[in-house]
Amino acid sequence: MPLVLAAVLPLPAQALTLFACEPEWAALGQILAPQADITSATHAYQDPHYIEARPSLIARLRRTDLAICSGAALEAGWLPALQQRAANPVVQPGREGMLFVAEQVETINQMDQVPFGAGDVHPEGNPHLHLDPERLRQAGAAMSQRLAQVDPERAAQYRSHYLRWSIRWQQRLDDWHQRAQPLRGQMIVVQHSTFDYFWRWLGIEVIADLEPKPGVPPTPGHLADLVTRLDGQRPLAIVHSWYQNPQSARWLSERTGIPVLALPSTMAPDDGVVTPEQLFDHLLDRLLAQHDAR
Ligand SMILES: [Zn+2]
Repeated sequence: MPLVLAAVLPLPAQALTLFACEPEWAALGQILAPQADITSATHAYQDPHYIEARPSLIARLRRTDLAICSGAALEAGWLPALQQRAANPVVQPGREGMLFVAEQVETINQMDQVPFGAGDVHPEGNPHLHLDPERLRQAGAAMSQRLAQVDPERAAQYRSHYLRWSIRWQQRLDDWHQRAQPLRGQMIVVQHSTFDYFWRWLGIEVIADLEPKPGVPPTPGHLADLVTRLDGQRPLAIVHSWYQNPQSARWLSERTGIPVLALPSTMAPDDGVVTPEQLFDHLLDRLLAQHDAR
């Protein structure tokens, strides 16, 4: 008898299981769906272009309700293998449970045709769109909509969490714009197109890339060329991401006197960069400190 009763009692609503390919989508998920069970497949010290399809990730994707990834081929080297091995119909390409943010938010540097030998470039454009705070908000809107579709019972919650966050976000955007004024028109040397959206948003000009071609690691010949090319220029810094080997940036710095700046390209909770707000605060603090030190 108690068993029968238990069967007709309403079950507590199951927590939604989210799988984020990158920490930025896990952090946004935390804001929009705080009750959800969220994991990120990659962390700030990993190159999101290349990770291993580990068994733990396959197991995780197998019981995922909604997977959120940057898309634009960023995860082309590992996500398809995970999707195949997880064999979870919900997160297969084209299904509601598989959200590629770059399909919802416009990317920069799209190409009709990728020229032969262009390096690791994709017609879908630059996938690192979370580093534009405007686009990050659009991503939040797309995520809250998709959450509402896969979990209609909590649709109103996702919408109100998004609205509350986006109002706060707009205030932060205005603050950041003000604070970032001194950075406008500055020049920078980069290693990969990771921060391209951020530079555009700040009005900073990229004058050189340590990669000879997109996605191709720095070569001695290319670095030697850069020493010549950067002669007489005064960029703010040579920036590399926390997940990249600093060796090439340091080599170039020693020969040009341009300082090296290592920046997080995503949330790094162990280092106190937990929320999207903290990431942009951190990036701006570091760049402004670099600017003031000159
Ligand atoms: Zn990339």
